[in-house]
Amino acid sequence: MTDHHIPQTMGQQFGRRSWAEPWKIKMVEPIHMISREQREQAAADAGYNTFLLRSADVYIDLLTDSGTSAMSDRQWAGMMLGDEAYAGSVNFYHLEEAIQTYYGYRYIVPTHQGRGAEHLISQAVIKKGQFVPGNMYFTTTRLHQELAGGTFVDVIIDEAHDPTSLHPFKGNVDLDKVQALIDREGADNIAYISLAGTVNMAGGQPVSMANVRALRELCDRHGIRVYLDATRMVENCFFIQEREEGYADKPIAAILKEFCSYTDGAWMSAKKDNLVNIGGWLAVNHEDVFDLARNMVVVYEGLHTYGGMAGRDMEALALGIVESVQDEHVQARVGQVRYLGELLTDWGVPIVQPVGGHAIFLDAKRFYPHIPQNQFPSQTLAAELYLDSGVRSMERGVVSAGRDPKTGDHRYPALELTRLTIPRRVYTQAHMDVVAESVKAIYDNREQTHGLKMVYEPQYLRFFQARFERI
Ligand SMILES: *Cc1c(COP(=O)(O)O)cnc(C)c1O
Repeated sequence: MTDHHIPQTMGQQFGRRSWAEPWKIKMVEPIHMISREQREQAAADAGYNTFLLRSADVYIDLLTDSGTSAMSDRQWAGMMLGDEAYAGSVNFYHLEEAIQTYYGYRYIVPTHQGRGAEHLISQAVIKKGQFVPGNMYFTTTRLHQELAGGTFVDVIIDEAHDPTSLHPFKGNVDLDKVQALIDREGADNIAYISLAGTVNMAGGQPVSMANVRALRELCDRHGIRVYLDATRMVENCFFIQEREEGYADKPIAAILKEFCSYTDGAWMSAKKDNLVNIGGWLAVNHEDVFDLARNMVVVYEGLHTYGGMAGRDMEALALGIVESVQDEHVQARVGQVRYLGELLTDWGVPIVQPVGGHAIFLDAKRFYPHIPQNQFPSQTLAAELYLDSGVRSMERGVVSAGRDPKTGDHRYPALELTRLTIPRRVYTQAHMDVVAESVKAIYDNREQTHGLKMVYEPQYLRFFQARFERI
């Protein structure tokens, strides 16, 4: 670990001079804050679930970085070049070329968004009863693996479950845990390794190049394939560039290509890294998997040259991929997240450290130590933040973790977090200041805050639609 370092500020990295976003604003979308009384009403109507708020009632929307990024003038120009042919759209070939160029995979299947690709890969390669080890679960990913008959097994390093650990690569796979699973269950009973870049549920924590390289070697010895959740892989590459020896002078694009070369394919929610409002893709190197996925896509998504996207969406996505791997873009993106993280850290607010690539994760267990986990501290925090300032965040704790399919009990994750997710190229530093001040205000009032009780619970992905009442 002595080879790694984590600069405290972007300023430190670039010397004494400030840095600024590598873009200027050409079009604006007005936003405003409704009154406290209106927010009280809106929160109650939404069952204290930020997913059920109307966006018109939200001031600064940090629910998610999914599909919420601002497209560039070039991407908007690309929207006018949509070739809306049912089959063989020219935009598909642009998209295919962009993925092959920057991610390096051979065969491409477009999908309407990330979970469409997760569905295809899960159905194509998981045999009923097989295990799917991964570096921490993600909601939709694990659900598709379970629906295909697989059982997810968490093989992330222990540090990932500790919000105070300063390990520089808390997303790493624990190879001993993988080996133990192979020894116990046999390599034939492992469908593939489900590897994610900047692990969302761990706080946006990266995987090192050394780790994926070692994972590849281990899997090669046992004939196991590795598939990558590439959703925020570009941000992962920023951390490799910053923290891993030998990568400081390599461009993000080169790091991305090397990382992907250790995997057999990837699924992508293009609504994140790839800077579009809708879209996704699956990319694989093996022809047999491609054949299965390409056949299934016509059942579930659309023809294999559009997969649920309009031609214009595919053009914007092809252009977004190129923009997303530019070093100055990624540095500014992560830099803005870090700016918010530094303010909160300076003010003593408990957050997951080190700050990840796409979001600040408030540590609700330390924020509200008096609220037990079955009274949903992260959900409470998200509701309180909205009531204070109209800022919308998201629960990533016991509600998101759902119930154990076997026992029916709540799954109690070690991490009980509330996520402030920053859309790419959308908000300014002044918005970050407003958010930080509001978090500080509810932190100062924490002892007066009570938890929630769940009064409606849907069967799947309950965090989207569950309803709560204040205790
Ligand atoms: C968003 C996301 C997905 C699912 O993608 P959608 O585009 O929302 O369907 C999968 N994995 C990760 C890590 C994500 O953040």
